[in-house]
Amino acid sequence: SNKIKVAIAGYGNLGRGVESALAQNPDMQLVGVFSRRDPVTVELLNKDVPVYAMADIEQFQDQVDVMILCGGSRSDLPEQGPYLAQFFNTVDSFDTHAKVNEHFAALDAPAKKAGKLALLSVGWDPGLFSLNRMFGETILSEGETYTFWGKGLSQGHSDAVRRVEGVKSGVQYTLPSEAAIERVRAGEQPELTTREKHIRQCFIVLDEGADAETVRTSIVTMPDYFADYDTEVNFIDQATFEKDHSSMPHGGFVIRSGVTGSGNKQTIEYSLALGSNPEFTASVLVAYARAVHKLAGLGEVGAKTVLDVPPGLLSPKDPAQLRLDLL
Ligand code: NAP
Repeated sequence: SNKIKVAIAGYGNLGRGVESALAQNPDMQLVGVFSRRDPVTVELLNKDVPVYAMADIEQFQDQVDVMILCGGSRSDLPEQGPYLAQFFNTVDSFDTHAKVNEHFAALDAPAKKAGKLALLSVGWDPGLFSLNRMFGETILSEGETYTFWGKGLSQGHSDAVRRVEGVKSGVQYTLPSEAAIERVRAGEQPELTTREKHIRQCFIVLDEGADAETVRTSIVTMPDYFADYDTEVNFIDQATFEKDHSSMPHGGFVIRSGVTGSGNKQTIEYSLALGSNPEFTASVLVAYARAVHKLAGLGEVGAKTVLDVPPGLLSPKDPAQLRLDLL
């Protein structure tokens, strides 16, 4: 078939999301999943797709057009990215902002040497939010850019509330402050501290006999995690917890507030409300995998980011159709 042949390296939340997203894109085909775990222990959504050992991945060089890397940013991608860029066109979701140029350089050399393309830091932040920050600051050159995150599940803060004595189950969401967003939308261009931008919301199931007020106090006064924020603590039962708090929502806003001419206020706003962070991130990775395949076909090599990719290449439609439909 002339479908784009895609494989997944690393099968966690994001890997599962990429498998689902590929199933929604008929011009692409999932040819295999690679894992460091014993392949027989890795269960895919589609049992017809083979799972292979990561150790054998080099043997598949000629069978894969684009490899989507779904490992963690902290320790998997810095190691797997440069290694796999020797053999495949790759896409990753590296999100350690402070180390982005380090990661770029680590991918650029092996990819150029092999004549491959390595697209890094794809997703929504970094990714779609980065593009919108770039549009904002370029088009409204006099102004301020604001990024608010949430409503989003915070893994670190959820772990912290679960360690509090008396907590049976718990989860923490970070919410953007409505008051702060309204000030930004109004064109005030306020200087906002992290505390002013976000509030913290907890949903807690108590252990039997635990005292709600004691638990609430332990949470809201916890240094580093909660003491410096406005924190809301809600108590619920286990059934509600399982029904309403087992997905991974996220999202946020990028707002550019600027002025043009003789002081006309201009606002650009982009927002995401995501029912599942990994499934959405995966959908972005899959669209960019298509673009990588096209760019590689045009002879492009080396490391690239979303800032370097012409947006029309994300689409399965040809340029004439895109002009007719969207321009
Ligand atoms: P994850 O579920 O922890 O998976 C990471 C790796 O852990 C997998 O590739 C897998 O590798 C291994 N793994 C997964 N489940 C396992 C299990 N049950 N037992 C043992 N090992 C297991 O992480 P994730 O939620 O997919 O997130 C991956 C990365 O995506 C994050 O680190 C983050 O940086 C990035 N991200 C980026 C954005 C963005 O907007 N740019 C948004 C969200 C996430 P093996 O298959 O090789 O074992």
